[in-house]
Amino acid sequence: MTRKFQNFIDGKWCDAVSGKTFENRNPARWEEVVGTFPKSGAEEVNRAVRAARAAFEKWRLVPAPRRGDIMRRVGDLMVARKEELARQMTREMGKVLAETRGDVQEGIDTAFYAATEGRRLFGHTVPSELANKFNMAMRVPIGVAGIVTPWNFPMAIPTWKIFPALLSGNTVVFKPASDTPATATSLVEILLEAGVPEGVVNLVHGGGGEVGMAIVGHPDVDCVSFTGSTMVGKKISEVASATLKRVSLELGGKNAQFVMDDANLDLALDGVIWGAFGTTGQRCTATSRLILHEKIHDRFLSMLVDRANALRLGDGLEQGVDVGPCVNKGQQETVQSYVEIGLKEGAKLVAGGSIPDGKAFAGGWFYLPTVFAEVQPNHRIAQEEIFGPVLSVIRVRSLEEGIAVMNNTVYGLSSSVYTNDVNAAFTAIRDIKAGITYINAPTIGAEAHLPFGGVKQTGNGHREGGWTVYDFFTEWKTVYVDFSGGLQRAQIDNYEN
Ligand code: NAP
Ligand code: MG
Repeated sequence: MTRKFQNFIDGKWCDAVSGKTFENRNPARWEEVVGTFPKSGAEEVNRAVRAARAAFEKWRLVPAPRRGDIMRRVGDLMVARKEELARQMTREMGKVLAETRGDVQEGIDTAFYAATEGRRLFGHTVPSELANKFNMAMRVPIGVAGIVTPWNFPMAIPTWKIFPALLSGNTVVFKPASDTPATATSLVEILLEAGVPEGVVNLVHGGGGEVGMAIVGHPDVDCVSFTGSTMVGKKISEVASATLKRVSLELGGKNAQFVMDDANLDLALDGVIWGAFGTTGQRCTATSRLILHEKIHDRFLSMLVDRANALRLGDGLEQGVDVGPCVNKGQQETVQSYVEIGLKEGAKLVAGGSIPDGKAFAGGWFYLPTVFAEVQPNHRIAQEEIFGPVLSVIRVRSLEEGIAVMNNTVYGLSSSVYTNDVNAAFTAIRDIKAGITYINAPTIGAEAHLPFGGVKQTGNGHREGGWTVYDFFTEWKTVYVDFSGGLQRAQIDNYEN
């Protein structure tokens, strides 16, 4: 029987007010329904925000180390349920089991980091310019946090946002992607089991245009943390500006791996296969451009084509499968349309380029790992985010040209350079315009305790991860305590003229 999932609002599991539902299916076996979910809208969001607002007044007063204790229990529960969560996630969005296990692990790492942050949340004490006066700046929570997340990291990305939001003393209204609502439900169940009180976390399922927009536009939501496409990010930024709320946007990428002529080519090959085709290319940090120094271009390209053709496609729950399906039919169609665009632009298709034949693939949204050679830096397939298993290979003559090509997009999330020349590596680190640069490692592989985010149209300047995400989820309060017993005027009484 198909499981019927619900919203979680004000401490209660409930259906949409309209009674309407939507289905979520397995992208590797489309006939398989994962569950039905409430198709909610503004009314459910209003109730959730009201509950979160009321709960905030108690939650903000819980000592941060105690909120941290809850986060530690969250991490323990995720460890205990890791395999089950990973299987649910693969079934829901298709990436292979090794990767969904990694996705859960990132949530575990984020929980344990949050647990310890409960005993830090450091502020500053600062000397005063006046005698007998004490100055400090401390972090305080913001209020109600709206959380809107994509489907490609269904556990990790919600945890990156929700755990620091809660640890900082905020309450949460969470709208997960419509392609991964079951994983989101498991996460909320874990938070409740760990002891998060009623009203502090609210889960509202439904479409982005309805539930997402209602959260973003709500005057009583104090901040919004969003990860998704640049197009939706821009819309969110516009709508949120009407109430001047704080918004964190983590958006698209067009990440490149650059292989210099002195690089270890076997290592670079492992890197690009993992970077380009892991998660079926559906990562914000996926390698979608490969920049090759002309001296190694032909040799590396033929190594790459052999490896891409040998990748095994299939249901991510099966052993030995390297690459799962696209998340849905729309995504598969987008990939196909970009392959046609690449061919029209004159790029040379050297691997993949079609939906795989055969009965094994007929029930899902599979697409062959695809490589285009002879791509020019301004081709659309070198400029636009495809979000699928398509790699565009560009030939360059020097380090400088490679870095210029790398920087020639509107995005700036992740980047990678393979070289054994320390001077080249440090020049690249200095000159690449991106939030993340890897040396001798692929464009994917962020660790939860370091800042994560990008420059240019990848975002709006905030960072998730590590200590930096706590800057987003807290406000600074500056406190002056004068114990002189008299009126002391700053800038005036401490100078004679
Ligand atoms: P998306 O279409 O932008 O959706 C992301 C989330 O926003 C979903 O929950 C979606 O709801 C919701 N949404 C859609 N329209 C909305 C609206 N008008 N107002 C408010 N919310 C709305 O992105 P996606 O296709 O799920 O994910 C792929 C994109 O995410 C790629 O561009 C990728 O680069 C980016 N991404 C970035 C990062 C990063 O950290 N930089 C990480 C992962 C992914 P529905 O699901 O109901 O439509
Ligand atoms: Mg699905």
